[in-house]
Amino acid sequence: MKCAICRSGKTEKGFATVVLEKDETVLVFKRVPSDICDTCGEQYISSEVNRSLLHHAREELNRNVTLEMLNFVPKESVNSMR
Ligand SMILES: [Zn+2]
Repeated sequence: MKCAICRSGKTEKGFATVVLEKDETVLVFKRVPSDICDTCGEQYISSEVNRSLLHHAREELNRNVTLEMLNFVPKESVNSMR
């Protein structure tokens, strides 16, 4: 799709790193599937992936971590590992 930020680039499927901060906690999610603009680098994350990210973040916050680096795992495969 066409980039909504720079209006000249096109987005390509790729992986992004997403940092979420809440109070004292910093969560770094690596390898998050996203569409990335080939011109300005803007990252577009689908609402489905975003929901999964926030779900995961809540679990981490409950563990009272202060800094955590995580490889993003889609929810379905998390469930099948348990
Ligand atoms: Zn762009």
